[in-house]
Amino acid sequence: MTERVIALVDAGRHKPLPPVTGPAASPAQDRLGRALRDLRISVTDRCNFRCVYCMPKEVFGKDYPYLAHSELLSFEEITRLAKIFVDQGIEKIRLTGGEPLLRRNIERLIEMLAAISLPNGESVELTLTTNASLLAKKARALKDAGLARVTVSLDALDDPTFMAMNDADFPVAKVLAGIDAADAAGLAPVKINMVVKRGVNEHSILPMARRFKGSGHVLRFIEFMDVGATNGWRMDDVIASREIIRMLSEHMPIEPIDPNYPGEVAERWRYRDGSGEIGVISSVTQAFCRSCTRARISTEGMLYTCLFATAGYDFRDLLRGGKSDAEIRAAIAAVWSVRDDRYSEIRSAETAPQRKIEMSYIGG
Ligand code: SAM
Ligand code: SF4
Ligand code: SF4
Repeated sequence: MTERVIALVDAGRHKPLPPVTGPAASPAQDRLGRALRDLRISVTDRCNFRCVYCMPKEVFGKDYPYLAHSELLSFEEITRLAKIFVDQGIEKIRLTGGEPLLRRNIERLIEMLAAISLPNGESVELTLTTNASLLAKKARALKDAGLARVTVSLDALDDPTFMAMNDADFPVAKVLAGIDAADAAGLAPVKINMVVKRGVNEHSILPMARRFKGSGHVLRFIEFMDVGATNGWRMDDVIASREIIRMLSEHMPIEPIDPNYPGEVAERWRYRDGSGEIGVISSVTQAFCRSCTRARISTEGMLYTCLFATAGYDFRDLLRGGKSDAEIRAAIAAVWSVRDDRYSEIRSAETAPQRKIEMSYIGG
């Protein structure tokens, strides 16, 4: 297969900041009345997996032009920006990537972020999403540094299927060891994300549910999404959450439960026999844009207001250009106040091929 290289400039496409008209309004509301509550920070655009739905090998080959270290936000820059976001309403921060545990000294960054307090004096809720390849080794240090919980991605329980999805010959057993280590370290409850792709891992739905039923972990089934522009997404490859729920309920009685908080992305279900809960994330078939309170910072400091954005706002430029915290905070409020994203509500065969930002760069 020929190798297609996406130019870096493509990854960092940006749009001009909207005019800042005064001090930041707090809490900020966007054009659809949504608050700014969650921040996802991508700490690296690199990954040791090549999941077919995220970083397909034929695009992310050995010559792929990843960001240079000097282009990444430093830990000090990330922490400063995170503090300003917290002043502007953020309550939860999730570290992601690429594979966040590949960023050197990530424990140090976690320590710095965990020290941030909300205006009410409580600590910010700090979590991380990982492929778990390094989790068995790092779980204790992550917990000691102040991480609250982890979400682990695992798409199957048998090696041939899992390896066909991660395309890096990575075995299931090591991910399971990472989950156990996270649990033992107190990074619990561990959430487990399974992306379901038709014809690839749908036969793993029931085995995964059985494996984690009663474990205390929360398995979440995620509809295959048209993130980025390289994963060859087609609607036919999506297994709708309602199909998954129907499949599960034929074998294990389940019932829906209320969200933990307004705007929770996963729809929650529990086993009627009391052996735990599962979730479904239906970004494709049941858009949840109306309650979307998430902003994303890319590895080199671009702010994106939607996972499916085609351009972001350059906050690294503000951080490195001598702007004060108050000026940066006002810029965040200005960006949020013009936000009208609702991609999942308007998705179609025509929007899917748009040159959206890659998920490995913007963070999941
Ligand atoms: N590398 C880490 C991991 O895999 O957990 C963190 C980054 S990854 C981009 C974050 C999440 O996005 C993972 O749970 C992954 O399964 C999910 N993801 C990536 N591409 C996806 C797609 N096309 N559709 C649905 N979920 C996707
Ligand atoms: Fe890497 Fe996570 Fe993307 Fe898989 S989903 S390629 S582990 S960033
Ligand atoms: Fe939020 Fe964009 Fe996803 Fe809608 S499509 S839920 S606006 S990230």
